[in-house]
Amino acid sequence: MTILETEGLDKSYGLVHAVNQLSLRVEAGQVYGILGANGSGKTTTLSMLMGIIRPDGGTFRWFGNLTGPAANRRIGALIETPNFYPYLTLEQNLKIVCRIKGVDEKDIQRVIKLVGLYDRWRSRFQTLSLGMKQRLALGSLLLGDPDVLVLDEVTNGLDPEGIAEVRSLIRQVASTGKTIILASHILDEVEKVCSHVVILKKGNKLAGGAVDSLIKGKEVITLSGSDAEQLGDALTASDLLESVVRSGDDFNVILRPGIMAADISRDLMGKGIVLTKIEIHKNSLEEQFLELVKQDI
Ligand code: ATP
Repeated sequence: MTILETEGLDKSYGLVHAVNQLSLRVEAGQVYGILGANGSGKTTTLSMLMGIIRPDGGTFRWFGNLTGPAANRRIGALIETPNFYPYLTLEQNLKIVCRIKGVDEKDIQRVIKLVGLYDRWRSRFQTLSLGMKQRLALGSLLLGDPDVLVLDEVTNGLDPEGIAEVRSLIRQVASTGKTIILASHILDEVEKVCSHVVILKKGNKLAGGAVDSLIKGKEVITLSGSDAEQLGDALTASDLLESVVRSGDDFNVILRPGIMAADISRDLMGKGIVLTKIEIHKNSLEEQFLELVKQDI
């Protein structure tokens, strides 16, 4: 089932083309990453989808045919930092959220257990670690059991422990079958948490698809040796390789999972073959990712 479909979504702020003709589709149960450097249009995209700002052009539909409040009722969105009352307990804070959302307070118990804060629910909000505060924020979204979560940079500002806690919670929620749309500028985060991804750069879609096939793409290694025929025979016979393609005197090979370039070089040495070249190429998409990540440093 398609949860979200956008077509040609477009938004400019004066001369800044923040989102350029963005089309994407999110299916039920996906953890869908929107990956891009700061300023690439992630927040603008999510804000349009949640009806916070109006697109200049294009369309989007939630759950087949919904937009506006009818769609939003089925979505838990965390686009800005939520305001909790520091002196109130977690329970009191969540009761307020229930009242605002029109959700039965009975749901608090379920949610507070789910986010691992049951032993703290009588603590004041201000006594929580940053990771716990963010888990509570996720909990507040889960009240009323929405079908979809929309999260913008949820691990920003957390320490490594807090980041791990929040990522693990997102994975846990995803494992219950919920659809999650998550904007992040961190490649590693998308790789660890998401099943699908769209990569944005300056509002443009660079690529999209399943994370496994895109990010974890295979490395191609170019090898050459003093005797191309002998090298070719050895590579073709090797059980360390998934594929061997000859290109002049060079051979482009893909290693089997778990095999390192050093293993193939050692194997060839054992057969009396000395390599004169070993070049590891990232696939082009990975290069685009690295470029994106570089801009954030
Ligand atoms: P970040 O991770 O920094 O929030 P982002 O990927 O979410 O980045 P957006 O916040 O959507 O990107 O911004 C996209 C572009 O639009 C940026 O160039 C930004 O400066 C610009 N922009 C965003 N909001 C406004 C606004 N209200 N007025 C003018 N320009 C804006």
